Amino acid sequence: MESAEIRKRWLRFFEERGHTVVPSASLVADDPTLLLVNAGMVPFKPYFLGEVKPTFKRATSVQKCVRTLDIEEVGKTTRHGSFFQMCGNFSFGDYFKEGAIALAWELLTNSVADGGYGLDPEKLWITVYLDDDEAERIWRDVIGVPPERIQRLGKSENFWSMGVPGPCGPCSEINYDRGPAYGEEGGPAVNGERYLEIWNLVFMQFERGAGTGKDDYPILGDLPAKNIDTGLGLERLACILQGVDNLYEIDTSRMILDRAAELTGKVYGQDHTTDVSLRVVADHVRTAVMLIGDGVVPGNEGRGYVLRRMMRRAIRNMRLMGAEGATLHDLVETTIKAMGPQYPNLVEDAERIDAVSVAEEKRFLARLQEGTALLDESIVKAKSAGSRVLPGEVAFLLHDTEGFPIDLTLEIAAEQGLAVDEDGFRRLMNEQRQRAKKDAQARKQGLADLSVYREVADSSGGTVFTGYLDTANEVT
Ligand code: ATP
Ligand code: MG
Ligand code: MG
Ligand code: MG
Repeated sequence: MESAEIRKRWLRFFEERGHTVVPSASLVADDPTLLLVNAGMVPFKPYFLGEVKPTFKRATSVQKCVRTLDIEEVGKTTRHGSFFQMCGNFSFGDYFKEGAIALAWELLTNSVADGGYGLDPEKLWITVYLDDDEAERIWRDVIGVPPERIQRLGKSENFWSMGVPGPCGPCSEINYDRGPAYGEEGGPAVNGERYLEIWNLVFMQFERGAGTGKDDYPILGDLPAKNIDTGLGLERLACILQGVDNLYEIDTSRMILDRAAELTGKVYGQDHTTDVSLRVVADHVRTAVMLIGDGVVPGNEGRGYVLRRMMRRAIRNMRLMGAEGATLHDLVETTIKAMGPQYPNLVEDAERIDAVSVAEEKRFLARLQEGTALLDESIVKAKSAGSRVLPGEVAFLLHDTEGFPIDLTLEIAAEQGLAVDEDGFRRLMNEQRQRAKKDAQARKQGLADLSVYREVADSSGGTVFTGYLDTANEVT
């Protein structure tokens, strides 16, 4: 089943069950505490916080997400994309645990002919929060999941809160057993690669107080109106339904991966290092295109830096695989072909997206040249001083001013028979990170004014949007 069809089925299923279809918000969060939207519930935050009363009791969306925290995982695990789409259904004081669990089970296990995804119920494993007997009882007695496929997990996995006073509550997750090829049995509690987490159901039932940190706060009592927030990873489900090994091989990403292989003359599936590079390129170029599509431009701070990092890592990986000239024009074109059917704005905006990408690539390739000159000079200096080690300051300077990733510096130095003082480099990076953290904290404290949510919801909350579905029908 193609990604576009997965998305269409999702929205149709929940719309038929009384949910208002809400279009994906921009990746650029209308939220001063967030750089980029990282979950489906973000645009609904004002409702959950009780800042604004929604005009609907049930909603559904397929939200674009970027998780910068997951960037390092890309290409290494099979299930983390830096960009992904979170399918969600939401209840505001309407159905609760039993309703959410029944809906999720129905959609996943209904046959394809009946509008579902047709997953084999025997492959689904459930996790619930440590003391959530109610959720366990529903899964076991109402749905009929055998008790041995229901596991309990602790706070870090299965309890949700927003990091501020307000709603919180236990989660329950649905995981898919991909079989012994992915490692030992034992359920999601012991093996996250084999038992792929696909859907998180959050039961907002308590109110939390301020406390001293994200995981240390008092529970003040039950919420007057209980809410549901769920999120299913579209790409993860696509992975299962398309019978592929990882997120980068599903229909929408695979086209980009194949184009990268073509441009470098590599064959996917023959060498681990090359495969990781190809996956990183497929993932990062897709994320970059989605970010540019939502108005982000490359820069040295915030979102602009996230974008710049994505593009530079993609370019760098293309070079590692042997590409010498510019490749982003081709890769971006392919990405727009892959994602355009679901995001027509990319097609309309193709020229601008291409121009931003090509300009950034040009700049980086020029810097690579400048940096290489600086590096060569430092290498000569070190050698004539009889040293076999390049100072950490040089690596830091290259990183800071020329955007040189450390692995590039290491590689060029090694070609000249030199090591790099990596400890020194890391120390300087750390110091810089601490400085940035302090700046960010100061910014966050100055900006945590929630009234901004009200403005957003006031201007957009009351609209019943249908163009999303209309568009999907029109272009697929
Ligand atoms: P994981 O434990 O695998 O990192 P998570 O617990 O961080 O996932 P949630 O915050 O529960 O993820 O998000 C809801 C759903 O969104 C997940 O169940 C998963 O299907 C999907 N998802 C989360 N992160 C990613 C990602 N980086 N790439 C693709 N899908 C993701
Ligand atoms: Mg995660
Ligand atoms: Mg998880
Ligand atoms: Mg989760």
